[in-house]
Amino acid sequence: MARANVIAALNLAEERCGRSGKRLTDLRRQVLEIVAASPTPMGAYDVLSELSQIRGRTDPPTVYRSLEFLLDLGLLHRVESLNAYLACSEAHEHVSQFLICRSCGATTELSRGSVVETLRDAAKSQGFSPDRFTVEVSGTCTTCA
Ligand SMILES: [Zn+2]
Ligand SMILES: [Zn+2]
Repeated sequence: MARANVIAALNLAEERCGRSGKRLTDLRRQVLEIVAASPTPMGAYDVLSELSQIRGRTDPPTVYRSLEFLLDLGLLHRVESLNAYLACSEAHEHVSQFLICRSCGATTELSRGSVVETLRDAAKSQGFSPDRFTVEVSGTCTTCA
């Protein structure tokens, strides 16, 4: 399961990099592999410690730059309430919607367009111009229920 996630994430990365003329360096690829292999969102320092095992000593800014790169390409999401990163589970137009289990940290990505439409309409009625949407719902997953 995790392996399939990693392969899917790497394929998507190759495709998006190819299309935008960006380079998927070894470092960026390794960061993506680490995050995609994790069943729960990972903090930057967890990524750093795994990366250091593969590459030897690595500086935090190096990791942050790679995470930013992958975020910009829509390959990762930042889960704001956990201050952590998760590989995108599907190629979709990006608005983050997550269900986050408070007990085990399992995080499920949703992609319901209607949630965003509702928020967009509500913002518009306030004369507000939204540029980023984050929907994070915390609770209990089926395993922990
Ligand atoms: Zn996604
Ligand atoms: Zn759970």
